[in-house]
Amino acid sequence: MTSSDNERQQCECASFWGLVPDGETTWRVETTGCDSETSRTWAPGHDGKLKGHLIRWGVAGCWVFKTSGDVATGQGSAQWGRQLGWPDVAERIDPQD
Ligand SMILES: [Zn+2]
Repeated sequence: MTSSDNERQQCECASFWGLVPDGETTWRVETTGCDSETSRTWAPGHDGKLKGHLIRWGVAGCWVFKTSGDVATGQGSAQWGRQLGWPDVAERIDPQD
């Protein structure tokens, strides 16, 4: 993929979503609510926005997914944090860890 200044794509945080427990056999899909387009990876401030969501989803014990095309990859918030270069996400979720 080439990166020109006017080539805009969906902000990275929009591809993440959490599966929030909502009853014994039901879950609620919670997105970041992002509809921004950007020529970079993140719309301004949206790395911080996703980080906040990861921490909240992690504290709630949610499974977190990232959609890429028609494939969704799911893992815990702490793992996503490490993968994105934010080791402090795990610390904020479980300060004892
Ligand atoms: Zn975003």
